[in-house]
Amino acid sequence: MSATRVLVLNSGSSSLKYQLLDMRDSSRPAMGLVERIGEQSSRLKHTHVKGDATREWTGPIADHDAALKAVAEELAKDGLGLDSPDLAAIGHRVVHGGQTFTEPTVIDEAVLAEIERLIPLAPLHNPANLTGIRTARALRPDLPQVAVFDTAFHTTMPESAARYAIDVETADAHRIRRYGFHGTSHAYVSRATAELLGRAPQDVNVIVLHLGNGASASAVLGGRCVDTSMGLTPLEGLVMGTRSGDMDPAVIFHLMRVGGMSTDEIDTLLNKKSGLTGLCGDNDMREIRRRIDEGDARARLAFDIYIHRLKKYIGAYYAVLGRVDAIAFTAGVGENAAEVRAAAVAGLEQLGLSLDPELNAVRAGEPRLVSSANSRVAIAVVPTDEELEIATQTYALVGHESD
Ligand code: ADP
Repeated sequence: MSATRVLVLNSGSSSLKYQLLDMRDSSRPAMGLVERIGEQSSRLKHTHVKGDATREWTGPIADHDAALKAVAEELAKDGLGLDSPDLAAIGHRVVHGGQTFTEPTVIDEAVLAEIERLIPLAPLHNPANLTGIRTARALRPDLPQVAVFDTAFHTTMPESAARYAIDVETADAHRIRRYGFHGTSHAYVSRATAELLGRAPQDVNVIVLHLGNGASASAVLGGRCVDTSMGLTPLEGLVMGTRSGDMDPAVIFHLMRVGGMSTDEIDTLLNKKSGLTGLCGDNDMREIRRRIDEGDARARLAFDIYIHRLKKYIGAYYAVLGRVDAIAFTAGVGENAAEVRAAAVAGLEQLGLSLDPELNAVRAGEPRLVSSANSRVAIAVVPTDEELEIATQTYALVGHESD
C-alpha cells in the first residue's frame, strides 16, 4: 500500500503544533502541541484520535529538537511513528516566502537558504519555522518535506495593490511591499466557498474575511488573490485582537517625537496592546459581547470601531472586484460571532447583501450559507482548516513519489 499520511508541523518561537492527516479520507489519526519550549515547565499535549485518548505531560523540553523527538515518541506509542512506511511527507507552515515562493515547495538546501534570507521580513516567525524544518530533516532525512507559505496565495496581487506609494528605489532596496498573510486560509476558504455554491473557483469572486485573533480580508477574483489587507507585516488592515491595523504612519513619528517612545515600545504598543485589547482591555469577542450586554460603553465603542473597519474593507473589495458572488466569514470570530456577521453586512442591501437572521444564528461546524433567499451576493460561514490545506498541498506535490 502506498504512503498516505502527512505530518503537518507549525513551529512557533516557543511552540510546536502538529497534526497527522491521512489523505485517503482527510482524517486526523493524531494531533497535539508542545508549549513553552525552552522553559522548565514545557507542556506536551497529544491526542490519539482513534483511541480518543489524550496524554499530557509537563517537564523541561530544551529546544525544538527535543520537542519533535518527544512528539515522535508519542506518535510511536500509537503505532504512528515518524519511521512508519505510511508517512508520505512532512508539510511545514512557513510564514514568509517573500516574492520568491509563489507555490508550496519541496525543501532542499537552496530553499532553506532562501527562507533564511527572508528572516529580516519575518524576524519572529521564519527562524522558528526553519528550526522546525531542520529538526524534522535531521530525524527523517530521506522523507520529502514541503514548505507551505502564508504569503504564497497573495503573490498574484497586481503591482497596483502590492506596492506602497513610496519612493520605488527605497522600497526595493529594503524589499518593502505588501505581502499579505493567512494565505493558506484565504486559499482554502475561497475554494471551499466556490464549492459551497456548486461552482468552479475560476468562476467565482469572493471576499474572504478571516477574523481570528489576527484578522485579514482578501479579494479573490476567479480563484486568484487580487488584494489583501495585511501588508509588509501582519499589522496592516483590520482591527485585530491586539493589533491596531490601519492608521496614519505619522502616529509613529508623533509617538517618538512627542511621546518619547522607543521603536521597540511602539512596536509592542501597536502589535500587542492595541486593537480590541487597546480599545477596551479585552481581545475575546465573547467577553466583549458580554460586556456590551451589560451596557459597557468602552466595549461597545471597541465593537463599533471593529465593525466600521470591516465594513470599509467589504466596500473597498467590492469595488476592487466589480462583481462579488460571495462574502465568506471564517476563523474564531467569523465562524462563531453571529453579531459580528450581522453588523458587518447591516445596511448593505443596496450592494445585494441580505442576511437571514435565523440561518445566521445557527451554530454548525460545516460550511453554510447565512444569506436570505433573495440576497444577490451569497453570505457564507466557512470554517477554515489550514492544516488540511497544508497537508493537501504537500501531498499533491510529493504524494506520487512514494507510490
Ligand atoms: P488565532 O488562530 O488567530 O489565534 P482564532 O481563529 O482561534 O485565532 O480566533 C480566536 C478568537 O475567536 C478569540 O479571541 C475570540 O475573539 C473569537 N471566538 C472564539 N469563539 C468564539 C465564540 N463562540 N463567539 C465569539 N467569538 C469567538
